[in-house]
Amino acid sequence: MVNRIGTEGEQVVTSPIPLPDLLDGIQAGVLVVDRERRFLFVNRWFCECLDRTADALIGLHLDRVLTPDSHVQVQNELAALFEQGVWGGWQARLVTGRGKEVVAEFDARPVWHDGAIVAAQVTCQDITPYHKLIAECELYREALECQSEEIEALHRIGAAGSLTMDIDQVVNLVYDQVRRLFSFSTFALVIYESESLQLLPKLVYHNGESISVKPWLYDQEQGLIGWTIRNARPLLIRDCAADPTRWPIAQERLFQPGTKSWVSLPLIIQGEVVGILCLQCQQAAAFDDGDLNSLQALADQMTVVIENVRLHQQTEHQLDELQQANREMQALQDLSGLLQSSLELRNVYQVIVNGLVNDLGYDIAMLSVVDQKRDALIIRAVATTLDANSPEHTYLTTTLPGVSIPLEDNPTLITETISQGRITTIHSLGELFEALGQRDAISAFDDSLRIETVVIVPLLARGKLVGSMFAGGHYSEIVGRSISLLSAFANQSAIALENAQLYSTVNQRLTEVSTLYALANEVSYSLNLDVVLDAIVITLRRALNCRSSVIFLYNEETEYLEIRASDGVKPRWQRDARMRLGEGITGIVAQEARPLYIPDTYNDENFIVFDPSVRSLFVVPLMVKGKVIGTLSVDDNKVDAFSEDEGRMLSIAAAQAAVAIDNARLYEDLKERAEKLEQAYQELEEASRLKSEFVQNVSHELRTPLTFIKAYVDLLLDGSLGPLNEMQREKFQIVSDRTDAINRLISDIFSLQRLEREKLNLVPLHLTQVARASIIGAAEAARRSGLALVEDFEADLPLVLGDRLRLNQVFDNLIHNAIKFSPDGGEIRIRLCRDGEFVRAEVIDPGIGIPQDKLDKIFGRFYQVDGTSKRRFGGTGLGLAIVKEIIEAHGGIVGVQSILDEGSAFSFTVPAADGEQDHEIQI
Ligand code: ADP
Repeated sequence: MVNRIGTEGEQVVTSPIPLPDLLDGIQAGVLVVDRERRFLFVNRWFCECLDRTADALIGLHLDRVLTPDSHVQVQNELAALFEQGVWGGWQARLVTGRGKEVVAEFDARPVWHDGAIVAAQVTCQDITPYHKLIAECELYREALECQSEEIEALHRIGAAGSLTMDIDQVVNLVYDQVRRLFSFSTFALVIYESESLQLLPKLVYHNGESISVKPWLYDQEQGLIGWTIRNARPLLIRDCAADPTRWPIAQERLFQPGTKSWVSLPLIIQGEVVGILCLQCQQAAAFDDGDLNSLQALADQMTVVIENVRLHQQTEHQLDELQQANREMQALQDLSGLLQSSLELRNVYQVIVNGLVNDLGYDIAMLSVVDQKRDALIIRAVATTLDANSPEHTYLTTTLPGVSIPLEDNPTLITETISQGRITTIHSLGELFEALGQRDAISAFDDSLRIETVVIVPLLARGKLVGSMFAGGHYSEIVGRSISLLSAFANQSAIALENAQLYSTVNQRLTEVSTLYALANEVSYSLNLDVVLDAIVITLRRALNCRSSVIFLYNEETEYLEIRASDGVKPRWQRDARMRLGEGITGIVAQEARPLYIPDTYNDENFIVFDPSVRSLFVVPLMVKGKVIGTLSVDDNKVDAFSEDEGRMLSIAAAQAAVAIDNARLYEDLKERAEKLEQAYQELEEASRLKSEFVQNVSHELRTPLTFIKAYVDLLLDGSLGPLNEMQREKFQIVSDRTDAINRLISDIFSLQRLEREKLNLVPLHLTQVARASIIGAAEAARRSGLALVEDFEADLPLVLGDRLRLNQVFDNLIHNAIKFSPDGGEIRIRLCRDGEFVRAEVIDPGIGIPQDKLDKIFGRFYQVDGTSKRRFGGTGLGLAIVKEIIEAHGGIVGVQSILDEGSAFSFTVPAADGEQDHEIQI
């Protein structure tokens, strides 16, 4: 064998080492195959690589050492090489004698002989390590890809946090990402609320479909979720079926039948578990530690996002709350304005309940107000969110107002806390309705309003309980709302309520006073009983704005109480309605002399129905000097139409009316008497006229014969008709004196009558002149009685306004009386002096005097102190009466002072004529 290995130019290169040995030394496979792909030559490396001997290989078909998947390719490569001389190259797997596979890189070249390709020389390299490396690289790439997907998932989740603030959306996104990265049958995300120990499933998917799982309470001993929360670390179970006793699968709510692989990961924020992410798969070992890490990364990322979302939501919530608080403050401010804008009680009631419903958002609101007299809370207004046309709404807003909750002896939670001024919460509307005695209505409202909570807020004004608010709504709404807002509103309401109540009281008093004033005015306007009674009923009906007002008066003859005046009563009842004492409400009031109020006539057995439209009735007695004379009543077609105040006013009006009725009755009586007196007076006047006429006629008739008699007797007495003996003279003298007396009487009577008929002839004159004329006239008579008439005239007396003749008569009468009633011898003084605006005259005698008890009588007509037939002094008893008449007609006064048996002083005054001095004019 020549170890010729080649030529270099002409020189043959030979090797000292035989060629096969050289080939065996090559660290790669060298082989030669023929057309049929049988080994013609194999070197040692190849043999060792295949773990076979050269002998075993030579002649063996190449395919026999190749894995079947390489056959076709190798066949094609070699076919091309033999047919077309194309060099080939390929990778194929060799199978060693021990069955091991070796990846080899082949390189084939044709072997020419005599111009023909007779064999293929193939070299091969063991590339198994590279191949492995490549495979590893591939795996690494895949892992990278996977990781990048995870990162992308994490990123997406992270980005979601900034895109959406909806926690459900984030959870759904997590679900999508997990689904992209893992295969599983069940996905669950559960939120854990450590305070309430509640587990709230957020999202549970089973086989791609969302399923609902109810929240449950965390029990750390139970279930796989329980384990995860308790340990705050992930739980991976590769095969649940393999060791079912090891894990508390049976207690696990989330565990789906058929699950073999289980992963649950805690979502942790600041060391606290806030949720669980759970994956289940029906294949065993579906998840490995790597998955666990990836899932944990996802879970962490999700936790951060959820936390952010939560924080955001919290901030939003706080912002909402702030805005809500702001809105509430605004509402409070608005309400406060509304509360202060009205002093009308009804308006204030409505503002309070409407405010609770419309501005503070409650579903139902009621307002009760303390009634001091009844010691109860009276519902005054109700507002609801119910449709205004619904029967429930109608019931609440029309039936409840007026319903009362007694405070005294009624120890319920509601009344006690209200009395103590504490805010209370009750958990059903029913409780409140029961306190209101409206048990029957409960179910209807519970259903329609779905009230879960009622807040009861006492209303205190300056520490005094004035009422209470009831505000009901859904539990969450009420809890979410600040009690401080409600109590602020309550404080304002209480003050507004108290102010309105004060205003109403003042107004009420004002109405009362003006009604009573109007009544007093009306009744004083007339003394006609019917007019007075009509005025009373009309005024009262108008003032109380009621259906009707009636006055019954007791008729003592018929013994019935009968309608004497009414306003608003149908004429028929006016005629028919009458009753005996003790009969019906009016009869009872009249009999028992006390007021009665019937708030609901349908519920009073004593009420006699005349008119069925009367629903409430107030009757008070009319009393005069402790005796009932009738009743005054008001009624209305509404139940409980009259307040205590109105009742009080009615009683005052009744007292006033009774006095007015009494006055009117007295007046009627007086009028009747006055009419009778008037009639009597007329009759007297007539009699007096007839008397005057008679006296005048008689006097006239008497005068003529008396003049004859007098003239005849005087002729007889002076002897013109022949001498008279003593006895005859005496008798004729008596006739003459009597005739004189009768003449004086007639003249006095005439004087008096003239005084009544005729006017005085007043002129300025000197009273001294008048007095002197009388003194001169009386001188002879005085002389006969041995009496001196003494003038005592003040100097410079003013003129008087007088009727000379009449004043003359006055002096005459007084001086003649003085002479007549004085003993012989003595002095009669006639004084004239100034007395202010008057001139005063006095006639002072030393006579018999007048008893004190007769002094006021002597100026009366025909009066004489000694009126007996045996009296010593003549006279008509008219002299002083004439004096008095004349002086009083002058505007002066007469007077007398007297001491029995010592004397008398008669005086009179005459008004001085203005500015005129007495200038003595001698006549
Ligand atoms: P008569 O015509 O009786 O005088 P008068 O009216 O003049 O009537 O007087 C009434 C009565 O008053 C007399 O009757 C007498 O009783 C009493 N009287 C009048 N003047 C005097 C007097 N100066 N002194 C006492 N009594 C007198």
